[in-house]
Amino acid sequence: QALANAGVQKLMPYQPGKPVEELERELGISESIKLASNENPLGPSPRAVQALGSLLDQLAQYPDGNGFALRSRLAEKLSVEAECITLGNGSNDVLELIARAYLAPGRSAVFSAHAFAVYPLAVQAVGAEARVAAANAPDHAMPWGHDLSAMADQVTESTRVIFVANPNNPTGTWVDGESLHDFIAAQPADTLVVVDEAYCEYVEEQDYPDTTRWLSEFPNLIVTRTFSKIHGLAGLRMGYAVSHPQVADILNRVRQPFNTNSLAQAAALEALDDEAHVHQSVQVNREGLAQLTQAFNERGLGYIPSVGNFICVDVGSDAEPVYQALLHQGVIVRPVGGYGLPQHLRVTVGRAHENRRFIDALDQVLNR
Ligand code: PMP
Repeated sequence: QALANAGVQKLMPYQPGKPVEELERELGISESIKLASNENPLGPSPRAVQALGSLLDQLAQYPDGNGFALRSRLAEKLSVEAECITLGNGSNDVLELIARAYLAPGRSAVFSAHAFAVYPLAVQAVGAEARVAAANAPDHAMPWGHDLSAMADQVTESTRVIFVANPNNPTGTWVDGESLHDFIAAQPADTLVVVDEAYCEYVEEQDYPDTTRWLSEFPNLIVTRTFSKIHGLAGLRMGYAVSHPQVADILNRVRQPFNTNSLAQAAALEALDDEAHVHQSVQVNREGLAQLTQAFNERGLGYIPSVGNFICVDVGSDAEPVYQALLHQGVIVRPVGGYGLPQHLRVTVGRAHENRRFIDALDQVLNR
């Protein structure tokens, strides 16, 4: 243990949900539904799945280490140069590349309380200091969401990276374009602002920012996105960063030469072009969120207003036993006590019948 670097020794590993089959075996249940990992209930675009078949006889070959086709297509879509794109083995990989390239002992990173769990892990693993800003108060319109002025207050001379999750997981809260623009403009030029937009495609708010347009103005901005959520390709692992070419150059120096695989590259390329599937996914999510919030309102259950494909509901007491009882009903959701939200459960927005099953199970468990 003592041989690992000091940051790693203190790491609490990320706790992914157990595979459904394993849980079912453990609990002696079947036909459960998983609404725990913010996956797309519609799955990936059929075009993406089809693209995989034609690649199976090429598995002996290395993938294109530069991801040329996908980076070019992304660049075209986003109206940036291909040199601005860095591909990652999920956006998680990209977040770690940023930490490895820009953080070290003696440097610090700023993020919000209740923010995505990978930020503290990535920061600690490289021995940097994590400076955690207090989040919005529970009675704020965006409860437990990012408080950008509290975040700005945490920035010191040692700060090289700021992580802003927009929207944030697990809270589902978001920051508007004007506030975010002002925030980035006020940061020192040698501090990178990472805007993690894993769920951006779901957001339909008028003043949600189109951040990739700000890259020429802010050379210290990095926008990260993923194919795991709206594109339903979480199992293949593909994410990317959009940044100034000089930042991308640095990130490309530290990544593994073949960090994204050929299947993921090909599927992502097809998924990007299947706009009908993206629209349908957004629509199913919009309807599902409305279904869930209506049910919470009818039952007098509090919840954190969300613009993502998940929502945190306040069960009014310790959420852990409620989570366990739901599991026995075959409904898998995510307790978020580890995020400092001990009375909330995060539920991924599913299709109508899945949401219904979750609500019915919750009624049973809460005796309503
Ligand atoms: N950022 C946020 C806010 C997330 O919720 C997630 C997934 N849980 C990720 C990044 C990473 O997703 P992936 O590595 O699958 O792209």
